[in-house]
Amino acid sequence: MSEFPKPKFNIGDNACIIDYESQNNTPIVCTDCNGTGHHKKSSVIICDNCGGIGKLRQYHRQYKTGELLTVGGVFFEEHNHTFQYCLYDVGMRGGYWELIHARYDESRVFSTVEEAQKECDRLNSEKLNY
Ligand SMILES: [Zn+2]
Repeated sequence: MSEFPKPKFNIGDNACIIDYESQNNTPIVCTDCNGTGHHKKSSVIICDNCGGIGKLRQYHRQYKTGELLTVGGVFFEEHNHTFQYCLYDVGMRGGYWELIHARYDESRVFSTVEEAQKECDRLNSEKLNY
């Protein structure tokens, strides 16, 4: 029997998460068909890249980090053997711990703001487009 993996964070640990917002999701002209919606070599065949629309939606993710939070729960994903965490705000609001973020992958959770910021900068410099 293989040993059960150990999570990087436990309940009560401080942690910082990386989040993202989608930006610039304005449609761009399809580079495959040049906006015609047809296959380059045939006007009856629909462009596979854009599905005949002639435009593609471009999503750019802007990653950002925030303040230090507190791990409020640890989840285990059976299918890929990774951990996910939900986090609480460090401060109390109205006498309750407030759950502000649900289930972040371990790759998006860091023990310090500095580490999270470093990873944020790396991800942003990759300029991921979808
Ligand atoms: Zn196209």
